[in-house]
Amino acid sequence: AENLKKRKIAVLGSRSVGKSSLVIQFINNEFVESYYPTIEATFAKSVKYKGAEYDCEVIDTAGQDEFSILNSKHAIGIHGYVLVYSVTSKASFDMIQIVYDKIIAFCGVTDIPCVVVGSKVDLDSRQVSPQDGEKLAQEINAAWVETSAKTNVNVGKVFELCLAEIEKQAPQTGEA
Ligand code: GDP
Repeated sequence: AENLKKRKIAVLGSRSVGKSSLVIQFINNEFVESYYPTIEATFAKSVKYKGAEYDCEVIDTAGQDEFSILNSKHAIGIHGYVLVYSVTSKASFDMIQIVYDKIIAFCGVTDIPCVVVGSKVDLDSRQVSPQDGEKLAQEINAAWVETSAKTNVNVGKVFELCLAEIEKQAPQTGEA
């Protein structure tokens, strides 16, 4: 379609928080327990959001460290960021602020379109409360949602929120 808007979204966060699982659930509508990531993982999906069709390119850091994506060719032209922690890992939650600061410094801006995601809500071993997640998101001016890639809770919502955050910052640029 001629009206397809391209939106490039990077998914970042600590290892094993479920980034790949989230992306695979979003793209393929499945939970793959033994998904083995390759080094370069970019996925495409078109999403209808508020009457417009978006051609989303989702970049998964797939087996690299939290920051390597920022130094790769994939960093060029990223519109929005999905920052994932696991609600079962306080350490992964503490990493969000660090990743955020790094992106801000790397991009040389004061604000970025961003969604903070608390993953694995299907598990009982919670270490991060919803309140803490929401508070952090507010502090960095980001959207926030809790998800489960396993039981497919709020997975589509993550990317809708990200598109919304991107639109907030760059309303109607008219670009294709
Ligand atoms: P990544 O390193 O951040 O890409 O994490 P993965 O997607 O590879 O997931 C790490 C581990 O957590 C794997 O064993 C997944 O099966 C598991 N996992 C991912 N998402 C969920 C979830 O929503 N619920 C549960 N229970 N496990 C998950």
